[in-house]
Amino acid sequence: MKLRPSSILLVDDNPGMIQVMGRMLSGLGELRFATSGATALQQLRAAAPDLVLLDAEMPGMSGYDVCEAMKAEPALADIPVIFVTAHSDTDFELKGLEAGAVDFIAKPVSEALLLARVRTQLRIKHLTDELRNIASIDGLTGVVNRRGFEESLQREWLAAMRDGTPMSLLLIDVDHFKLYNDRYGHPAGDACLRSVAQAMRDKLQRPGDLVARYGGEEFVVLLSRTPRAGAEHVAHRMLDAVEALGISHESSPTSGHLTVSIGIGCYDTDSACWIEQSGESRLVSTPQHGASDLVRSADLALYAAKGGGRAQAWRLDLGDVDSPSLAREIAPQSRLPQSRLAA
Ligand code: GH3
Ligand code: MG
Ligand code: MG
Ligand code: MG
Repeated sequence: MKLRPSSILLVDDNPGMIQVMGRMLSGLGELRFATSGATALQQLRAAAPDLVLLDAEMPGMSGYDVCEAMKAEPALADIPVIFVTAHSDTDFELKGLEAGAVDFIAKPVSEALLLARVRTQLRIKHLTDELRNIASIDGLTGVVNRRGFEESLQREWLAAMRDGTPMSLLLIDVDHFKLYNDRYGHPAGDACLRSVAQAMRDKLQRPGDLVARYGGEEFVVLLSRTPRAGAEHVAHRMLDAVEALGISHESSPTSGHLTVSIGIGCYDTDSACWIEQSGESRLVSTPQHGASDLVRSADLALYAAKGGGRAQAWRLDLGDVDSPSLAREIAPQSRLPQSRLAA
């Protein structure tokens, strides 16, 4: 198995100690540093490393405090922590393990021991990541990940071509999410993404419907055997479901609440590129566009929805993927009345 480069965060209030350990670990991957508990947490939230080497004794926020804070934040809880401490007695080691650490290294640090323990933990971390990936689950939100989506898309597209059935896809992007993070903090942003994912999953009714995290604050809903009218209906349900969460977003220029914008891509009998399959012979012919164009049309429609003022859904037919100006807003009047929040 080919491993991607590892990243390690070194945390110690003594810069000399960071320098010494940094030199020892220099061959193992990308190294980042923090000299206090508070900056360590900032760094962790900005980009999660594969491993944290955490000084247990630091003024202010101690290593134990940092570890406990990490375990309380789902996005950070699975990052392995090795404590590095001048205390070598059992009580200290136990305290570290109870706080959720995976290992314990005594100061002064032996280079051979440090390398061996760090390598072991990195190997375990990569295997865990790989297992999660194989299971196609997004670690933060619990919905299907990008890889799982791509697999389903290919499979469902082939089935649609074989069976002559329509297919639609929604790309859903949280509005002004950078401003949300800036205002409420990254951990609140993470919690928000989990709520949005959950709300959308709850609104899907057919067993074949799939919601996945497409990346960052973007989700995708794959609707097999669903023509445009069905997809538009689901899109409205999604807009309403997110607004109904009532998550305050006081920095949003669009609404006081968290909203999403939706781009719909569709392929059905009304598509200019629709191909009627000849039933008996099961002769498979495909339109000039493929599954990736369906995603591209949804993406262009999403772009139009953002430009149109956000908190709305737009559609672009697969057959029009090369003419994005043909994207159209999906009539807001067909949305549920109680969802009409002030724009
Ligand atoms: P727009 O309405 O145009 O979509 O604006 P936006 O701010 O949502 O879009 P932009 O692409 O500028 O920023 C996306 C933000 O989403 C930036 C990034 O910090 C945040 N984000 C992406 N992934 C995550 C995540 O996993 N957790 C958190 N908390 N924020 C994330
Ligand atoms: Mg210290
Ligand atoms: Mg985005
Ligand atoms: Mg966004």
